[in-house]
Amino acid sequence: MKVLNKSKLIEALNVLSSQQEVFVPIQRESQSGYFSWADYQPERDELMLEALNVYQSPKNVVLPQTERMYGIISQGMEVDIDQTFEDAHPTLIFGARGCDVKGILAMDEVFLTRGFVDSFYQARRANNTIVANACYAPGPNCFCTAMEVDPVEPVGADVIIHDCGDYYAWEARTGKGEAVTAQLDGLLEDKEVKLPSAQPFQLQVDYQGVAEKLKDMFDHSLWDQMAEPCINCGMCTYVCPSCYCFDIQVKMFGEKGYRFRAWDSCMFEEYTREAGGGNPRGASKERFRQRFLHKLEFFQERYGTPLCTGCGRCIIVCPTDVNIARIIKAVKEAEVE
Ligand code: SF4
Ligand code: SF4
Repeated sequence: MKVLNKSKLIEALNVLSSQQEVFVPIQRESQSGYFSWADYQPERDELMLEALNVYQSPKNVVLPQTERMYGIISQGMEVDIDQTFEDAHPTLIFGARGCDVKGILAMDEVFLTRGFVDSFYQARRANNTIVANACYAPGPNCFCTAMEVDPVEPVGADVIIHDCGDYYAWEARTGKGEAVTAQLDGLLEDKEVKLPSAQPFQLQVDYQGVAEKLKDMFDHSLWDQMAEPCINCGMCTYVCPSCYCFDIQVKMFGEKGYRFRAWDSCMFEEYTREAGGGNPRGASKERFRQRFLHKLEFFQERYGTPLCTGCGRCIIVCPTDVNIARIIKAVKEAEVE
C-alpha cells in the first residue's frame, strides 16, 4: 500500500498547495475550521488533523459564507448583467471526516440534480478534490453510522487517508484521487502498515423509521416541548456541514453594483418573512420544527437520505442544550396523536 510518512506531511501539503488551493483543519486563535494552507502561520495556527472535527466544516470551500455572483448595471428601468463571478479555481479539502464528506454529497444533490444546476456551486465542485481522513475513534457526540455514513471508508472521498501512527496509509479512490496522488510522487512510499481498529460508538442513535413516523407528527405536542429551550440563535445551522440555505442581496454603488449570496438560517425570523410582512414560520417553534423535519423527513423523502450526517457539532455548540440525538429518540418513542 502507499503511505505518507508524517514527517513529510508539511512538505506534502506544500507540494499540493503549489497545484491547487488546499484547505486543512486548523485552530486559528479562537476559531477552528478549514483554512487555506497558503495562509498557514505556525506561530498562530495549529494543524488539527488529529482532532475529530473542527467547529466549522469544509462546506465553505464549495459554498462560501459570502459569494459574489454577478455584476449589474442599472439605468432607469433597464438592468444588465455585465459579468459573472463563477469561481473554478482548483481546490483540495485535506482531512475531511466522513460526516463532512457526506455533507458535501448532500449539497451535490441540492445544487446539481433534479433538473436544477447552480452554476456557481457547479464550478467550485467540479474543480474540488476531497482527501478524507478515516475515523476510527468516534467522539461522545458522534453518530454518523446511524445517518448512513461509513467513517472508515467514506463514500464521496477521492482519497482516504488512515492514521497509522507514524504514517498515513494513502488510498486513492477516484480519478481525481489518482491525480492528487501523482502530485505526491516521490513523497509517498510503498510500505505495509497495520490499519487501526475501529472503536465502538459511545452515542447510540436509531434513525430507522423516523422519517416515516414524522409524516404524522407535524402537529404533535412534542414540538412545543422540544422547541421550548431554543433561542433561534442559528449557531447549529452555521456549523452544520449539510445546512445550505442562503440569502441573495444586492450592493449598489450608483448605477453599478453586484449581487451576492450569504449563508442564512431557517432559525431566523427574517428568513421566511415576506415583503408584505406575513411570515409562514413566524413562531420560534415553527422554525425549530422546520429545521428538524427538513433534516430528518423532507430531505429523506426527496433524496433518499437524511440531511443530518451525525457529526455532532450542533449538539456541541447549542447554548441551550438542544440535542438532535435526543430529538430522534423522542420521535422514536412518541405516541402518534
Ligand atoms: S444552536 Fe440551539 S438555541 Fe441556537 S438555533 Fe440551534 S437549536 Fe436553537
Ligand atoms: S444536524 Fe447537527 S449532527 Fe446533523 S450534520 Fe448538522 S450539525 Fe451535524
